[in-house]
Amino acid sequence: MIPRRYERLKQVLSKRQPDLTVLTEDVHKPHNLSAIIRTCDAVGVFEVHGVNSNSKVPTYSQVAQGTEKWVQIHTHNHIKTAIANLQESGFKIYAAHLSEEALDYRDIDYTHPTAILVGAEKYGVSDLAAELVDGHIIIPMMGMVQSLNVSVAAAVILFEAQRQRLAAQMYDRVNLDPEIFNKVLFEWGYPELAAMYQRRGNPYPSLDEQGNIIH
Ligand code: SAM
Repeated sequence: MIPRRYERLKQVLSKRQPDLTVLTEDVHKPHNLSAIIRTCDAVGVFEVHGVNSNSKVPTYSQVAQGTEKWVQIHTHNHIKTAIANLQESGFKIYAAHLSEEALDYRDIDYTHPTAILVGAEKYGVSDLAAELVDGHIIIPMMGMVQSLNVSVAAAVILFEAQRQRLAAQMYDRVNLDPEIFNKVLFEWGYPELAAMYQRRGNPYPSLDEQGNIIH
């Protein structure tokens, strides 16, 4: 790996925000999933969560290509367990949901551990998810159409989170656990080798200052 690329990978990883995430509920159109992951990468989301209750429609892993390889994908079997797992890990979950009780998305403090739940293209957030989350948020709509495309809604909210986190200097320090940082750095820098080490069940080797493998 050339040193410039190694530096770039380290720089991007050092800005990742493990306590900011998106949970998609039955979002199934590949171009929407792809656009959400691309925005996650741009904002510095480390891991995105998805629930897909209909196995006939694409999942994140089936649309993964290009930008998607820079964002970790966690697929859950059910929205209830996805929400419970995130809440147990300390996340407050806000459903982007056009409900009576929804707050303006700019009134939330995204510097705390936050997950943004977005709903399916046609049906939106399910009643169960709307009930289980910590709050609802809305992007005010002034036009004739009632809702935005799901990937656009996710982007608007994520960039507000980025704005707040930039103001709080949260991109100026490394937020990832050092062990995870080094593991992902190896996977980004040496994807084929990383897959081989995984197949064999061996730990990854260490890298020197220039990103070369230490044998
Ligand atoms: N008919 C659906 C409904 O009533 O929720 C519309 C679904 S919308 C196309 C897909 C998802 O995008 C929603 O579930 C929500 O998460 C998000 N979304 C779209 N526009 C939004 C807005 N103005 N405020 C908050 N979330 C929005």
